[in-house]
Amino acid sequence: MATHHHGHHHEDMLSVEDARDRILNQFGVLDAQNFRITDALGLVTMDQIRSGVNIPPLDNSAMDGYAVRSTDVSRATYQHPVMLEILETIPAGSLPRKELKPGTTSRIMTGAPIPEHCDAVIPFEETTEKEFAKSGQLSEIGIRIPALPGTNIRVKGKDIKTGDSVLLEGHVITPATVGVLASMGMSHVRAIRKPVVSILSTGNELLTPGEKPAEGKIFDSNSSSIIASVFQLGAIPKYIGIARDEMESVRGKLKEAMDSDLVISSAGVSKGDYDMVKDVMSEHGDLQFWSVRMRPAKPLAFGTLNRGSDTSVPLIGLPGNPVSSLVAFEQFCRPAILKMMGKSNMHRRTIQAVLKDSIVNYDARRVYARVIVEQTEDGYTAKTTGPQDSNILTSMVRANGLAICPEEEESKNPGDIVTVIMLDE
Ligand code: AMP
Ligand code: MG
Repeated sequence: MATHHHGHHHEDMLSVEDARDRILNQFGVLDAQNFRITDALGLVTMDQIRSGVNIPPLDNSAMDGYAVRSTDVSRATYQHPVMLEILETIPAGSLPRKELKPGTTSRIMTGAPIPEHCDAVIPFEETTEKEFAKSGQLSEIGIRIPALPGTNIRVKGKDIKTGDSVLLEGHVITPATVGVLASMGMSHVRAIRKPVVSILSTGNELLTPGEKPAEGKIFDSNSSSIIASVFQLGAIPKYIGIARDEMESVRGKLKEAMDSDLVISSAGVSKGDYDMVKDVMSEHGDLQFWSVRMRPAKPLAFGTLNRGSDTSVPLIGLPGNPVSSLVAFEQFCRPAILKMMGKSNMHRRTIQAVLKDSIVNYDARRVYARVIVEQTEDGYTAKTTGPQDSNILTSMVRANGLAICPEEEESKNPGDIVTVIMLDE
């Protein structure tokens, strides 16, 4: 008879990396859609974007001042200003009406196009303007400094030239990107669409938040935390609701999820008597049930649900315990969603920190301990949030990182260096 040696039979367990690789293999980048630029923050461009315009569109003034021919003012000094005849005032948004003949100047505002033959702008502070009552009534102005050609002139096309490739494909749209698109006059941009992710909880014990508490029941927290996690990634959560531990209920709920890019369910994937979710899912598609060599979140389901006409929807079945479901979301759903969104960087930032207490690993899985990371003068420290049971969801609220105790190590102790996955955005 085979004896089970506590904690050391892992042939049937998948490593986190193997599980993640198998999952990611099933996902590709989604197609592109047209978005209003202000709705496109965080999305990824599908194609290279070229400019149809020059920015700036015309040579224009960088200062409020006087547009001059630099040769006219080459001998100007504070004591002996060069006097020039004022032709007009050019506000931003207007075109100059008069070219600069030698000995003339035009008042010009920041952003206004420069007149013909102008090659420098002298700021008001370097002129005699202040010394006269009302500048609008002046017919002449004294320029007190010389200027090299090009001074205070913003050259047409200096930022962007017509035809320039402004964004490459695969660019993650930031607020600055949105601004540049707007500056080129674009109201819309083609970007990879947001995945629709259906979210389903299972269990007879679950109540919807807002319902009256009932003895023996608990509120469904997984749906909410997974909806929020999906939303945080910029994808579209579709709440399906709670399926009871009955075949018909699970079948009905899964039907509602079929029009999505991914279905995330929670609970019903371990070995409990009422976990017939497994059976119903298998009946609808090609599901595998895995033990992943990690703590929390060992049980995991993955596969596809048939949608008819040869297409299918991938499903990731997370464990029921609230911490497990979030940690598994982190490891498996997050990268899958980011991959669909075309993001090349799917991984969180990791840091090295000095552990302040202990992480115990009693059955050779990879432990993800909830920790509070602080930055000190000597680098980062990490301290566990206290009890690490997979039902203590507040531990996840206090934590800003997941510290790893590797499979092959029995513990991490005070003073040890740990790798921490940072959970802050
Ligand atoms: P199960 O995988 O169905 O055995 O569930 C494991 C544990 O997670 C049980 O204690 C469940 O009550 C709990 N659980 C399952 N689903 C949820 C949920 N949606 N929200 C909060 N706790 C849950
Ligand atoms: Mg259950």
